[in-house]
Amino acid sequence: MTNSETMQAEAAEAEAKRQTDKPPDPYAEVRRNATGGKPREASAISLRGVQKHFPGGVVALEHIDLEIEAGEFFTLLGPSGCGKTTLLRILAGLEDATGGAVAVGGQDILRTPAHRRSVNTVFQSYALFPHLNVRDNIGFGLRMRGVDRDECQRRVDETAKFIKISDLIDRDVAQLSGGQKQRVALARALINEPDLLLLDEPLSALDAGLRSQLQVELSQTQQRLGMTFVFVTHDQQEAMVMSDRIAVMNDGRIQQVGPPEDIYERPANLFVARFMGHTNLFPVERTGDGSLDTPLGSLTGCGDCIGSHVLIRPETIELLPPEEAGDNRFRARILDRLYRGAFAEYQLECGDTRIAAIVSNRGQRQYDPGEHVALTVDSSGLVFLDE
Ligand code: ATP
Repeated sequence: MTNSETMQAEAAEAEAKRQTDKPPDPYAEVRRNATGGKPREASAISLRGVQKHFPGGVVALEHIDLEIEAGEFFTLLGPSGCGKTTLLRILAGLEDATGGAVAVGGQDILRTPAHRRSVNTVFQSYALFPHLNVRDNIGFGLRMRGVDRDECQRRVDETAKFIKISDLIDRDVAQLSGGQKQRVALARALINEPDLLLLDEPLSALDAGLRSQLQVELSQTQQRLGMTFVFVTHDQQEAMVMSDRIAVMNDGRIQQVGPPEDIYERPANLFVARFMGHTNLFPVERTGDGSLDTPLGSLTGCGDCIGSHVLIRPETIELLPPEEAGDNRFRARILDRLYRGAFAEYQLECGDTRIAAIVSNRGQRQYDPGEHVALTVDSSGLVFLDE
């Protein structure tokens, strides 16, 4: 069994237990209506010094401190093996932390078993019950809890309408596309009205178009419900589109926490800068006259910027005809141009240095491979960083 399959099996078991253990909650709908999409205070999460050491010396999480606000769409972002799933499993109660404390709504939850936590999880591979149709998959949790048939039917219909799958309600799950299955999985999790919804790479099995459509729908759903979503992905674009805040992780540690614009525009270190997409990163050395030596040439107008490296985002570079001289302009040759619809992506050579540029396809002059240009760097868009 893969890590993800084990997690799904454990979560399904916890869900079944949760439903039999939990008395019916007659106030659930009232609560939902009353929140009207406002954050529920009970779902704020606080992690203090959380550690996870697996037997054999693997350190999956090393001292994680994190505050997630009630009603936030919060994303754990990082490369494979950085500890995202382990952190999600600790929140779900499927893994014990080996150190630290986790509180949800101010209550310590580490000793609360998975089935007693107000938490549901949506997985990459849907984990639907194959022998049940869409209606029965969505209503499974309510039926296990003993909610009567008519009420169950009414709430399934309401949730299906909310997630826009009313027309699929009587289908077998085997007859659904990937995107439809993921909508059913989401409806099945939301009908239980958990305080906290955990989403483990739920969109990564979908094709690009459907994926971006569901990215928008998921964040709209989260805003309408005011529920706290903790979303795991290794896709930086997805994290930026959907999240209120992102925690970038590497090697079991959090590298930076902040809104998408901060993470992209003001990365805290070289790892975050590299991970967040197209990046030109060069070592810098300050010279006696206050300018900066870089592999491109001398950069001026950088004031008292401090850092061992400079980050030049490709979209901040301008390409001008080669005869245009001036400060922070460097003669470069076009190696390659990729047409990307709204913009073109260039690879250039400036002396021995390769550099990428992105130029809008609207009204900007475009160049062909082999042509020379004056590559222009805007000093106000530079970011200085250390390791
Ligand atoms: P991915 O994106 O590939 O799912 P991830 O960021 O979710 O990766 P985790 O699954 O949390 O990473 O794993 C973090 C580290 O802990 C990895 O080095 C992994 O090999 C290790 N690990 C996870 N589960 C176990 C386990 N049960 N026993 C030993 N090591 C484990």
